[in-house]
Amino acid sequence: MPVKNRFAELQSEITAWRRDIHTHPELMFDTHRTSALVAEKLRAFGCDEVSEGIGRTGVVGVIKGRKNGSGKVIGLRADMDALPILEATGLDYASKTPGAMHACGHDGHTAMLLGAAKYLSETRNFDGTVVVIFQPAEEGGGGGKVMCDDGMMERWNIQEVYGMHNWPGMPVGSFAIREGGFFAATDEFTVTIEGLGGHAAKPHETIDPTVTASHVVLALQSIASRNVDPTEQVVVSVTSFRTESDAYNVIPQRVELRGTVRTLDRDVRLQAEERFKALVSNTAAAYGAKADIHFENNYPVMVNSPEQTGFAAQVARKVAGDCAEAPLVMGGEDFAYMLEERPGAYILVGNGDTAMVHHPEYNFNDEAIPAGCSWWAEIAEQRMPIG
Ligand SMILES: [Zn+2]
Ligand SMILES: [Zn+2]
Repeated sequence: MPVKNRFAELQSEITAWRRDIHTHPELMFDTHRTSALVAEKLRAFGCDEVSEGIGRTGVVGVIKGRKNGSGKVIGLRADMDALPILEATGLDYASKTPGAMHACGHDGHTAMLLGAAKYLSETRNFDGTVVVIFQPAEEGGGGGKVMCDDGMMERWNIQEVYGMHNWPGMPVGSFAIREGGFFAATDEFTVTIEGLGGHAAKPHETIDPTVTASHVVLALQSIASRNVDPTEQVVVSVTSFRTESDAYNVIPQRVELRGTVRTLDRDVRLQAEERFKALVSNTAAAYGAKADIHFENNYPVMVNSPEQTGFAAQVARKVAGDCAEAPLVMGGEDFAYMLEERPGAYILVGNGDTAMVHHPEYNFNDEAIPAGCSWWAEIAEQRMPIG
């Protein structure tokens, strides 16, 4: 089934962009070189408008179709940032910045969306407007949220948004998607249990925060087992349990617990947070201790809208011949913020049999470029047909 011929022609050029970005990874919002490179290329392609500094270092390009009777505006989004990992690929174009690496393939995402922008600027074979969105700080900085908070959706009147991530383990250039909750909300907590410290031989004169915190850890297991509908997904993991003292004969004053709560549904997320707070504070109170709870709402659940997901799958089938049902992912994805503001869909494109993302030997597979670029281009052309 057809990838667009133009992308077979452009593949080596797009690959060269990808490898250049790979050599110069930048973290979080510090995507200065990458953002400048993106903006320069968008201008060279003849985009109608290129705006830098959206969401600090984000870049937005506008491409108007040959017709604009539909009034439709579609946002296509890629991420640009790298990870704080020491690269171990041994590639001749490996990172020249020690401790920074494109280990999630955002170099490939940026290059593929640039390739699509070049094609769409050349052909403009659609009735409406394409807005290409290049965001910083996907890896933990909430760059997508910062772009939304900057008024991006309203400023360009974006009506729908689409995103893509490469996925190791899926055949290269194949697609997978799912409707509804897809990537998890990744909330994090720090709880301090304060009791009354003292001599380990005189527990009756103390309020033991270690015993209290142990009961808290066990009580939290009932969120998944007794509160949330068993057909839904929730993970509550206490990942750190630290007392103030290492001594054999001291009951400490405080214990600090840390961990994460992951959910795939907005209501389950709220339910889990509510139960978390009630279990922690009431269990602590039952033992005479106090609990100080910091529950941080990190990335929300990434929810694919039904209509746009069906459309995105149909486009993927046209490009690759098939589109699989994607697995649920308990990792987070910052595109969730854009999908909270507008309907849209996020798809996975196969990266072949490579190391997993975030691994020091991972590399984006340039063979995925024609399929990825074709999907972007077809999203614009099929969603806003020229008629
Ligand atoms: Zn990542
Ligand atoms: Zn990523």
